[in-house]
Amino acid sequence: MSEQKKLGFTTRILHQDRQRTIEHGAPHKPVHTSVTFGYADARDLAAVFQGRQSGFRYGRQGNPTVTALEEKLTQMEAGRGSICFATGMAAIGALFQGLLRAGDHLVSSRYLFGNTNSLWQTCSEQGIDLDLVDATDVAFIAAALRPNTRMVFVETIANPRTQVADLARIGQLCRERGILLVVDSTMTTPYLFQARSVGAGLVLHSLTKSIAGHGNVLGGVLSDTGLFDWSGYPHIAAHFRALPSTQQGLAQIRAKALRDFGASLAPDAAHQIAIGAETLALRMERACSNALALAHMLEADTRVAAVHYPGLASHPQHALATELFQQFGALLSFELSPEIDCFDYLNRLQLAINATHLGDNRTLVIPVAHTIFFEMGAARRQEMGISDSLIRVSVGIEDRDDLLADFAQALNR
Ligand code: PLP
Repeated sequence: MSEQKKLGFTTRILHQDRQRTIEHGAPHKPVHTSVTFGYADARDLAAVFQGRQSGFRYGRQGNPTVTALEEKLTQMEAGRGSICFATGMAAIGALFQGLLRAGDHLVSSRYLFGNTNSLWQTCSEQGIDLDLVDATDVAFIAAALRPNTRMVFVETIANPRTQVADLARIGQLCRERGILLVVDSTMTTPYLFQARSVGAGLVLHSLTKSIAGHGNVLGGVLSDTGLFDWSGYPHIAAHFRALPSTQQGLAQIRAKALRDFGASLAPDAAHQIAIGAETLALRMERACSNALALAHMLEADTRVAAVHYPGLASHPQHALATELFQQFGALLSFELSPEIDCFDYLNRLQLAINATHLGDNRTLVIPVAHTIFFEMGAARRQEMGISDSLIRVSVGIEDRDDLLADFAQALNR
């Protein structure tokens, strides 16, 4: 295992745990269910609490099974460290809880997952100045920056309209201006895209999606790439200032967000996510190739008015996506021609399931304007490019011909 850097993505996921002593030679880390951890010498307990000695204190702040997953995820992102949360939204919420204060300015892509959009509205009501901008062109981000801008937040490929952020140039801009760039890479996963390559300081994933992959567990993670200099970040608590600069961000988030708000990942969930992660690359290969085939088929059909998928030459950011990502992801959205009712169409699908969620082994479909993006209202949907007939498809790993046949037969009737 000393040749670690030369190993491939999946080899590293499979064998990373074995770098540490493993109990009984078991290839899987055990699930530690204890919420507390005892010490023979009370001085050790005090040293752990004061951060002078490594060790576990209480399950809300850390657990050996969760730590093993955090180490796996850190390695997947080639980062410095990671913190897991109960859900992806808890990881996004931790940015607000741990790093933003009233009077700060947040610049975010306006192409966002609906609940992130909702959270940013809450932040704005609680004193954060918020600018939502078109992140497909760095010029819009640059124009929005102010002296009090603390954070720039973007999704790699936006859910659900698949706009691709101008990641490399946004990373460069943030680096030059000393601003923290946070990238939600849920759609791309560490297999398709390494956020560190564009200079992001923090990268986040909803682990619920492709990383766990089987639609049976919730989780989220924030990983620090080690590229951001936290020594100049204003809100780090005084006692974390003594740490090396690269550790200050996660120390702050672990205490002020995870510990104080308590959205901790359960050890059973961490174990399931670690198992799912082992096959991430295999599942992504299959799902991305299915998505590309389905996008081509739908685009060629005159009964389909528009298809949004970064792998299509017609996608406005196709060239950008080709430069940035290993493949184009497993999510696409499309609009039927006006004479076809989108609900009738969805009801004719036999394999694809009418359901929310994405990054599942099974193909899932949803009429977004009427469901997950309903609450935000028509005006905001229009800004995000979401029409009433938009159907989001989270493409699974079914056999390709079966999948294409299902979407074709639903058009034919
Ligand atoms: N980020 C993106 C891009 C998402 O699509 C989602 C959920 O769909 C989340 C974050 C939130 O993740 P979770 O459902 O695990 O809270």
